[in-house]
Amino acid sequence: MTERDKYFMGRAITVAQQGMTSNTGGPFGAVVVKDDQIIAEGCNSVTSTNDPTAHAEVVAIRKACAELKTFQLDNCILYTSCEPCPMCLGAIYWARPMKVFYGCTKEDAAAINFDDQFIYDEIDKKIDARQINFVGLMREEAVKVFEQWEAKTDRTTY
Ligand SMILES: [Zn+2]
Repeated sequence: MTERDKYFMGRAITVAQQGMTSNTGGPFGAVVVKDDQIIAEGCNSVTSTNDPTAHAEVVAIRKACAELKTFQLDNCILYTSCEPCPMCLGAIYWARPMKVFYGCTKEDAAAINFDDQFIYDEIDKKIDARQINFVGLMREEAVKVFEQWEAKTDRTTY
């Protein structure tokens, strides 16, 4: 960890505070850095945009990818003011930054009623034992699109 890492984390924390103060959303901020430059910043915007997926990390990843015109955050570092929830963890793995720094822990978040443990618990359950009902339907028809994808010669793999 370098002084630059502390600077970028400080920025993520400031973004979190500004988002909270302006009532953009919850007290979370994130910054995407590449080659020692801030590519994008994001604060939690769930309540102001009516978007339950607008967590700071997702907002920052979307902006960074738009800025870099790519769907992969190669050689990027994500600084987030709090350890990512399962959704953001998934988004981070799909975006593939090389490293993540986090400020608060998920235990810190749970202490102010942002507890995501129930989602981790759901992941471990069998699909028919989850709180939200998941029902398989029309697999044979749906799978045909996958077969077309497999045969598609001009596909962009990722
Ligand atoms: Zn999240």
